Amino acid sequence: MPMKDVANSPQAVWEALKEGNQRFVLHQQERPNQDVLRRTELRRGQNPRAVVLSCSDSRVPVELIFDVGLGDLFVVRTAGEILDPAVLASIEYAIKSLGVDLVVVMGHESCGAVAATAEALDGGKIPNGLERILVEKVAPSILEARARGRNDLPGYERQHVIEIVIQIKHRLSALQERIADGRCAIVGLRYLLSDGSTQLVISDGVN
Ligand SMILES: [Zn+2]
Repeated sequence: MPMKDVANSPQAVWEALKEGNQRFVLHQQERPNQDVLRRTELRRGQNPRAVVLSCSDSRVPVELIFDVGLGDLFVVRTAGEILDPAVLASIEYAIKSLGVDLVVVMGHESCGAVAATAEALDGGKIPNGLERILVEKVAPSILEARARGRNDLPGYERQHVIEIVIQIKHRLSALQERIADGRCAIVGLRYLLSDGSTQLVISDGVN
């Protein structure tokens, strides 16, 4: 079902994204909402159903992974899916002004930002320059994973998604209110480069 026809509920939107990802995994994409009609009708405005924060990694193209089209997702991407005020403002805008039903945080297998941060912590060499921002933002997730007995990259990547989800919930009261009354939900995923699937890492408001 094209995303624009999916019912207005967090669970329905989540199910639609899972189905789209399954089509991507099986190479049975429908490539919905990518025609001239859809492009033209969107001139009147947008009604995306989810906001997605994902890593900027070129191997993680959000719309392709969920087999959706124009106007379906409000996407924010940063290296290592890290947060800053601009990212939080973009997510809040999608929640409050666009009324999205779902917030998705998506990390992935073999994330360079996570690996580089683990390397910096292990080597005791924190980079100077702007790359330092990445390390500063990802390091707490790695330390938390280690405190929980996980000492491998998949464990770090999963914990990082969890930490980002927790921070988004903590900082956006508009999201907390909407999760409480069932209007919105949040999921944290880890995308697998190897088979195209998305692993559910954490969720609140959907199952
Ligand atoms: Zn990455």
